[in-house]
Amino acid sequence: MELHALTIHAARAALQSGDLTSVTLTESLLNRIYAVDNQIRAYLSVTPEVALEQAEEADRRRAAGDTSPLLGIPFALKDVICTEGLTTTCGSRILHNYIPPYDATAYRRLREAGAILLGKTNMDEFAMGSSTENSAFFTTRNPWDLERVPGGSSGGSAAAVAADEAIFGIGTDTGGSIRQPAALVGIVGLRPTYGRVSRFGLVAYGSSLDQIGPLTKDVTDAALVLGALAGHDPLDSTSLPTPVPNYETALRSDIRGLRVAVPKEYFVEGMEPGVERAVRDAIQVLAGLGAEVGEVSLPHTEYALPTYYIIAPAEASANLARYDGVRYGHSAANPSDIWDLFRTTRDEGFGAEVKRRIMLGTYALSAGYYDAYYRKAQQTRTLIKRDFDQVFTHYDVVVCPTSPSVAFPIGARVDNPLQMYLADIFTLSLNLAGLCGMSIPCGFSEGLPVGLQFMGPPLGEPALLRAAYAYEQATPWHTMKASLPLDVTSSELNETDEAEIG
Ligand code: GLN
Repeated sequence: MELHALTIHAARAALQSGDLTSVTLTESLLNRIYAVDNQIRAYLSVTPEVALEQAEEADRRRAAGDTSPLLGIPFALKDVICTEGLTTTCGSRILHNYIPPYDATAYRRLREAGAILLGKTNMDEFAMGSSTENSAFFTTRNPWDLERVPGGSSGGSAAAVAADEAIFGIGTDTGGSIRQPAALVGIVGLRPTYGRVSRFGLVAYGSSLDQIGPLTKDVTDAALVLGALAGHDPLDSTSLPTPVPNYETALRSDIRGLRVAVPKEYFVEGMEPGVERAVRDAIQVLAGLGAEVGEVSLPHTEYALPTYYIIAPAEASANLARYDGVRYGHSAANPSDIWDLFRTTRDEGFGAEVKRRIMLGTYALSAGYYDAYYRKAQQTRTLIKRDFDQVFTHYDVVVCPTSPSVAFPIGARVDNPLQMYLADIFTLSLNLAGLCGMSIPCGFSEGLPVGLQFMGPPLGEPALLRAAYAYEQATPWHTMKASLPLDVTSSELNETDEAEIG
């Protein structure tokens, strides 16, 4: 197998045995990026000097006896996570030149574990979207069909992993942005429980919903990355003090007696028949492995979408107030006064979807509408959470589709925000309820990957990993790869991308 196609655990074994150095592995990944990223466009910036320097350091650490699971493993980081000295754009014009003065805790932890940064990946602006089409720079392509979206908002990290342009990727999930792109490009995406991973240095979208998590080639790798990311951080007051378990011990192929709930509201009219078929077959596989499968109801599911689209924009409108042309990034030229500076900077700097969210959120929070919208949304949020509490008193995990459709064509939904919002219909309840979840590949519909979603109670990651691992071991889907036409003429990629962003 080609080096760039390795999983973390396979690369780790080769590094540990001395057959491979991190420098060689990193060079192989950089060459892969140069060969295919002009088609995929997963990266906003590639950092070869940083990567090779970190790889040399990893090789020195290994020689000195360090055996950390991520030591020397190259990865792709969503460009919403702060990296000291390296541009962090959030896919937005307003931050096109923003260079953070500090590292996010998640990145710092990955660095301490010895992982190698290959570059920062494309995303929907400020993580608002489901396709990467809301990036201010360009749209990332789905490796399975270059005319289709990779999902979003972490579409760059997801596509990078699916196209073997990174051994693993890091995304963020506010309403589905790790799980949905994982489903659409046929890889594994894990959204940890709210508070499990520090949000310090993650540029905020919806602060009560955001979480950082792994995008990987298989379930074992997801466990390894989660183990490195998770843990209490005094710099994030919402991070949980609960000790981090060893997630690798959850990877057992025996799921006899595991109680698996199938919510009837997640098999709705309008979902693609090929998706429903693949997910129903997967549930049969779980039953065949000895899981106790039962149907349940999550009756407030129908309120999840409207609830999310009040709460997330309300939090976004407050979080994005800081981009004023004074403190960060872009600043309008020659303003007539301070108000003109604010107005023009924000008008020039934000894209249409971000402006829409700021307006929706500001409206929902304003006097006279607060009770009708924001407070009501908080109340329905509680009802949605209670539905899950109820189910998790009898079940270990919930299983359902990740997305109602496979990857859609680029351009198909950009003019219809509601249709775009529906891409997350099966993922956003989990964020509202503060749960954990993951998407794993479960087959194909019309040649495109379908995702199976597991949801677990707060801190239920071991149960998710166990169910997902057992399913993965019994099926071939995670081994299937998109085949890409190679183009080795594109080693100019760095310059072109930087020019485009600057
Ligand atoms: N697509 C959803 C939104 O646009 C979720 C995004 C996310 O999880 N960051 O808000």
